[in-house]
Amino acid sequence: SAVVDGVPAKVRERHAELSQDLDDHSYRYYMGSPIIADAEYDGMMIELRGLEERYPTLRTPDSPTQKVGAPISNLFEAVEHLERMQSLDNAFSTEELSAWAQRVENEIAVDAYLCELKIDGLAVDLVYEKGRLVRAATRGDGRVGEDITLNVRTIDAIPVHLDGSVESVPELLEVRGEVFLPGKEFEELNARLADEGKPPFANPRNAAAGSLRQKDPRITATRPLSMLCHGVGAHEGVRFTHQSHAYDLLKAWGLPVSDRTRVVGTLDEVRHYIDHYAEHRHDPAYEIDGVVVKVDDVATQRRLGSTSRWPRWAIAYKYPPEEVTTRLLDIRVNV
Ligand code: NAD
Repeated sequence: SAVVDGVPAKVRERHAELSQDLDDHSYRYYMGSPIIADAEYDGMMIELRGLEERYPTLRTPDSPTQKVGAPISNLFEAVEHLERMQSLDNAFSTEELSAWAQRVENEIAVDAYLCELKIDGLAVDLVYEKGRLVRAATRGDGRVGEDITLNVRTIDAIPVHLDGSVESVPELLEVRGEVFLPGKEFEELNARLADEGKPPFANPRNAAAGSLRQKDPRITATRPLSMLCHGVGAHEGVRFTHQSHAYDLLKAWGLPVSDRTRVVGTLDEVRHYIDHYAEHRHDPAYEIDGVVVKVDDVATQRRLGSTSRWPRWAIAYKYPPEEVTTRLLDIRVNV
């Protein structure tokens, strides 16, 4: 076939087709109604990345390989995040995890790693001014998200006012976290939907995304959503030396943080944490799809910086998907 810019027309067509499909699936996924399994999505992404490695001119800034999330809907107002929200790089084996740690440690010494559970929910951005929640938004494309403040205000775990005196809370605080629907509440919600003759959700993640993105906050209020914080964006009037230090402060201000997070000194201990939760994957009340490993020291995080898609100082170790047959849909899906 014809070759343009060194790229055969067939390859260019396949690249365009995959990009379009990935964008469409991404949009559906973030709306809470994906139609393909994550593994299938990941497979298409791997194929696209492969094409771009062979033909680098195909790797344009609008390629799905270079972007975070999906464009937002027009259901809600668009809001710009104070600081960009990113995705996470993935490791699917201990070799890939060690390779990441090696790249980091070749650049800078690391004193401590923070191990956290990777909650399978959806990311939200909360902005507190003088301790008051003034805005909540979805991640969107990482730069612009959807204003879901009214919906988020119905979530009991998220304080509208931070605890502490005016002097002890920061002037400005942008917090990131994961909103999720606990497993038990997910089962109950589906039973309720079935009673009402409404379609059930395929998994807790979709249920959380669908519940949070309701046009009517009164519907969100009937869904027992919860949240755990996993990051900080813009902030004024406070200094965080370590990510774990930030979590201690968030906790003191009444924000929800996980008590399963651990600070460890070596990669061996990181592996131990990963092995532990591979065995105890269903101990937490919420679904997890892996472990997130972060460099704890904030100055080191800054030195390492980030790519257009993810920070270099963190990585998500993904557990293999658990394939189950759902009673409700009678099809095999990843939950
Ligand atoms: P991701 O879900 O793999 O990882 C990044 C996200 O993890 C962060 O944005 C954050 O919200 C979350 N997170 C959970 N716990 C965290 C913690 N402790 N610390 C930090 N972050 C934490 O990446 P992504 O960019 O959100 O989505 C890509 C994933 O979505 C892929 O696995 C892909 O398969 C899936 N996907 C599926 C479809 C589909 O159609 N099935 C479409 C698009 C994307």
